Formats: sequence, structure tokens, C-alpha cells
Amino acid sequence: MNRPKPILRESSNGARFAEAAASLTEIGKGFHARGWVLGTSGNFSAVISREPLRLAITSTGSDKGSLTPGQFLEMDEAANVVRGDGRPSAEALLHLAIVRGVAAGAVLHTHSVWSTVLSGSHASQGGIALEGYEMLKGLEGVRTHKHREWLPILENSQDMIELGERASITLRESPGIHGFLLREHGLYTWGAGLQEAKRHVEILEFLMEVLVRSGAAISS
Ligand SMILES: [Zn+2]
Repeated sequence: MNRPKPILRESSNGARFAEAAASLTEIGKGFHARGWVLGTSGNFSAVISREPLRLAITSTGSDKGSLTPGQFLEMDEAANVVRGDGRPSAEALLHLAIVRGVAAGAVLHTHSVWSTVLSGSHASQGGIALEGYEMLKGLEGVRTHKHREWLPILENSQDMIELGERASITLRESPGIHGFLLREHGLYTWGAGLQEAKRHVEILEFLMEVLVRSGAAISS
């Protein structure tokens, strides 16, 4: 009988990278259509290998409305590019901090109007409490609208090493959160896999839009 040839790690990584890049491209185009990642804003990643750690991630400067799988890179645990052309997103270190901190399989980052408004208006409170909404049940592990979801707000920075360290601390100090905001910048959320992470973007963006439209951004 013919024995199946052993699959080399490199070739299986290549297949996983191609699959992740194709899925992230579709997700990114959908987010652009919703107005959550206009221009080159936002970035997306998916873990394609844990040992050693490898992520597929958007390259810097990718226009999200015309995203293609060719605009994704494979990077290692130190944000070095190991496949593809270009540089990873400036916020690659944040993706790595989240992947390590909560063992996420995918990390999605959006720059919506709603997250920008709310993260500014609620910055002095250090976060936003989401409670009483049926849509909360779309967050992994949440079973009731009575759940109180805390969405921390971190001060924005262009120093990604420092910001990555602060994100790691937030993840340690607030176990069970599904995302966080960067002040007047945007949302970071994640999931065990890509579909879960995408769902979390949709749920959190919906809830933030509800809060702003219902006047929460003004009254606080
Ligand atoms: Zn950003």
C-alpha cells in the first residue's frame, strides 16, 4: 500500500496562511463596507501556528476597501516577517500581546465612528459598562442580557512597545473581557477562531452604536 507522505510543517503552514489570508480578506472587505475600517485603518490577524508562534497579519498601509490576500504577511513571535512582502501593521505588537494574553486564535481591530466617539467621552471612567442588552449574548460564554461586559479604555499611544505592555496588563487585570478600546482610536477584539472574532466585532460595534445613538456619549 502507498503510505501517505509526511506533511512538512512548512507546507502545512503555507496552506494555513493562504486560508487565513483569504478569510481575513473577506472579513476586512465586509468591515470596510460597514464603515468600520475606512482608508488604511484597522488591522487583522489569525494564528496559523502556535509552536512556533506564527500569525497571518495585514501589511501596513493596506487599503481595506481593496484588500487582497497578497496584502497579508506571515510574522513570527517577534513581529519579524517570515513570508510575504512589506512590513506588518504598526500595531503588530498589540496583536502579539493579545494572542499571548488570552490565547486568541484571531485578533480584529476596527476604527469605527462609534468606538472613536465613546472611547473619548468615557475615557475618564476608564471603560464602558455594557449591560441589559440582548445582543450581549453574541459574546462567547455570555448566556443572559443581564451580563455586565466591561470594555476597558486604554490611553492611545504611538509607542507600540509601551502600548503592548499596557494591553497585556489590562488582559491580566480584567479576565473574561472580550475586547478593549484605545482612546479616540478604535476597538480591539478577538476570538478562539476567526468566526468568533468577527462575531465579537459585530456585537461590540452594534452595542457601541446603540450607546451613542441613545445618548450615552453625551450624558456622561
Ligand atoms: Zn488602529
